[in-house]
Amino acid sequence: MPDNHARRRTALRTRLRERELDALLVVDLRNVRYLTGFTGSNAALLVHADDDERTVLCTDGRYLTQSAQQVPDLERLIERPCPPALVERAAAKGLRRTGYESHRVTVDELDVLRAAGGEDAVELVRASGLVEQLRVVKDDTEIEALRMACAAADRALADLIEHGGLRPGRTEREVARELEGRMLDHGAAGPSFESIVATGANSAVPHHRPTDAVLAAGDLVKLDFGALVDGYHSDMTRTFVLGAPADWQRELYDLVAAAQAAGRAALRVAADVRDVDAAARGVVEDAGHGERFLHGLGHGVGLEIHEAPALAKTGEGKLSAGMAVTVEPGVYLSGRGGVRIEDTLVVRDGDPELLTLTTKQLVVV
Ligand code: ZN
Ligand code: ZN
Repeated sequence: MPDNHARRRTALRTRLRERELDALLVVDLRNVRYLTGFTGSNAALLVHADDDERTVLCTDGRYLTQSAQQVPDLERLIERPCPPALVERAAAKGLRRTGYESHRVTVDELDVLRAAGGEDAVELVRASGLVEQLRVVKDDTEIEALRMACAAADRALADLIEHGGLRPGRTEREVARELEGRMLDHGAAGPSFESIVATGANSAVPHHRPTDAVLAAGDLVKLDFGALVDGYHSDMTRTFVLGAPADWQRELYDLVAAAQAAGRAALRVAADVRDVDAAARGVVEDAGHGERFLHGLGHGVGLEIHEAPALAKTGEGKLSAGMAVTVEPGVYLSGRGGVRIEDTLVVRDGDPELLTLTTKQLVVV
């Protein structure tokens, strides 16, 4: 896939020139991966603003072979620690204004970089989030990885239910372990975050961690989980009822489902992210449960489980085609139970593309 990575570097170089930077030091490993395809655990990248031939990937000796295979198209430097080695290289090449990822470099590390750049040779310039801004809109390769990650989660959940994995008597931890194992069976490298399995009153806790609590007949059971495929994260929540639902459970479910549908319908190119949040939140507020919807409507997903854009009251910006986001309203009745329904979708011209395909009908198990 060198073509994709080269294309992304080209887009980044345009931004560097707009900011009159001669180069950018990339230290975030996800950003390094995005720009080069390198998946090792130690690396940094010096992106030259004008000439891709002068961009340098640095890693250490453990990745000598892997880096040659994954990144055949760039000069490589095998040295550690990488960031100061690349700043030294920038100085040697006569690069002046060199941006660094100020949202990732610590104050102590900055001192080391300054020393490596020499007194007046390299001017280190704060440049936070430049690669992340590119990552907000996904290309086809990324969307395909997200599709596979969502499919692994869909299949794992279908298997879990088909094999009776969701039943009274099991613990939240047992269900979480089984779900995660089944995602591995369907091609996931791992779970994309610590799975949430929350039964009964625990389902009213938005980010409950699985415990030894036992699933019981009549419980709402909330599963929020995802799979990791090619570095990309899927994210899905479904809420079930063990046995026949009580009226309040069905009403709560129908309300959240209606809010979720409104949120999905608001996912349009050029929509303000706050308006998308408001579309779903309004449904919950109209039902008198506004203060029980305790979080934003959704978030971007990609190389990170939570990334831009935030679909929230406090979010900023407008949607563009190719953004991958979640829509996940929830209503939480403290001490009783909660419902959240979450999909991962891609914003498209016209209707968004749904990646998490598990039914959103109330499933009674
Ligand atoms: Zn989730
Ligand atoms: Zn989420």
